[in-house]
Amino acid sequence: MGYTPVRERNPACFLDKGFLTIADINKIEDRLNDTDVDIYIDKKFLNKLKALAAYVDFGFASLKAIKRGNPLTYSNDLILADSPTKVSGQDLTHEMFHAIFDLHDDELSSAQIPDDEALTAYFDFVVQIGFQRLIPVEKELEKARNGKKCNQRIFNKSLDGFESELTNFLITGNGNKFLPILPQALELMKQLTGFNVPITEIVNRYRNGECGVCIAK
Ligand SMILES: [Zn+2]
Repeated sequence: MGYTPVRERNPACFLDKGFLTIADINKIEDRLNDTDVDIYIDKKFLNKLKALAAYVDFGFASLKAIKRGNPLTYSNDLILADSPTKVSGQDLTHEMFHAIFDLHDDELSSAQIPDDEALTAYFDFVVQIGFQRLIPVEKELEKARNGKKCNQRIFNKSLDGFESELTNFLITGNGNKFLPILPQALELMKQLTGFNVPITEIVNRYRNGECGVCIAK
C-alpha cells in the first residue's frame, strides 16, 4: 500500500528515514486472513453510503438489512467499489483499521475511544494534511542540497504547522467531533495497527538536520 501521491511528486525524507509508520502490513494481512473477514466488490451498496470503501461489521449490516429490506447482509467484511488495486491505499488502510479495531472495542473504550472513527479520522488527517505540511520542508532542504538559498522562514513555519495542527487534532478531537485522543489511545492504535507518528520527535529530527540543513546561502 503505497502513498504515491506524496512520493511521486515530492522528495519524502520522512518516509525514507522512517520518521513515522503509517501501518504494519502484517497486522493488516493478519486481520484480512481472519475467517470472518471477506472482501466484496459492491458499488451499489457503497453508493448508498457515499463511500468508495467500507468495513461493515455485524451490527451495522443487520441494522441496514432490516431497515432497507436488503437481502445482502455483510458481516465483518471489507466492501470495495472496485478491485483492491484500484482503491487507494489510504482508503484500504482506513477500512482495515476499522476491521482491526472491531476486535478491540473494550480496550478502545478504556482508552476513551467510544467511536473508532476518531482514530481513522486522525490517520486520514496525518496522511492528507500532515504530509502536505512536510512537503515545503522537504522542498527547502532540497534547495539547500542543490546549493540554492533555503528559506528558513518557510522551513520553520511548515514544521510548526505540522506540529500544531496534528497536536490540535488530538487535543480537540478534531474540533470536538470526537473526544480528545489521549496518549494511551495512540499507544493502543500503534500496538494494533503499527500506526506510529511521534509528532515532536519528527519535528526534532528535521531540526537536528537528519534530512539536511536549511542554510540561507
Ligand atoms: Zn471510517
